[in-house]
Amino acid sequence: MKKYAVRNLRLCTKDCICLYVCKTGATDTEDSIIDIEKCVGCGECASACPSGAISMVPYDYPPQQEKEPKVLAKSHKLAFNKSKEELISDELAKGDEDTKRFFKAFSRATRLVNEDLLRESGYMLAQSANTHNLLQGLLAFGRDDLPKKTIEKILKSVPCNEGSKLRKEKTVTYHCKICGYVFEIKENEEAVCPLCAARGDDLEIME
Ligand code: SF4
Ligand code: SF4
Repeated sequence: MKKYAVRNLRLCTKDCICLYVCKTGATDTEDSIIDIEKCVGCGECASACPSGAISMVPYDYPPQQEKEPKVLAKSHKLAFNKSKEELISDELAKGDEDTKRFFKAFSRATRLVNEDLLRESGYMLAQSANTHNLLQGLLAFGRDDLPKKTIEKILKSVPCNEGSKLRKEKTVTYHCKICGYVFEIKENEEAVCPLCAARGDDLEIME
């Protein structure tokens, strides 16, 4: 597997040993970021670094492990509830001075758990089809408060490694007025909220 070197600046003690062992000069840069254009992946710098500040990372990551749809549905639901918990904690953290710190800490802890849940669901890997489909959907959504340029940059610079799972068919995005969940279905499918089973007038199409 082809790899390249990455330096963790927080661990780097700047003793410059990696500069001496690298035959291509990839480690010798003004911004301290190893030049991946020059790096040939020999791993000499990672072995020589006394601080463990350099890691060898692969160019292409293998596709993530498949998960059963019911496992994904459960983790999505849990992640959705954790998001609500975080929003509530943030609101409570604005109030009473005595409880402020507690709710702030609770909000952060909830965010950490939720990041793990979303990672398990395959949404934290920029190269996964889940993430690409999600980001494409957000772009199509066209909201003003989205970091459109950043989303486009991620889609362009991190190619999907599960091409066959990229969404091709036309989809419709619904917002559930009962539980607030936003979900997508194929154009001809019946719309039923996957979280609370609401349908009909309880759902609205998002443009
Ligand atoms: S060898 Fe390691 S600690 Fe030393 S400059 Fe290079 S990355 Fe930093
Ligand atoms: S892996 Fe080899 S070529 Fe790449 S930066 Fe380290 S020493 Fe240089």
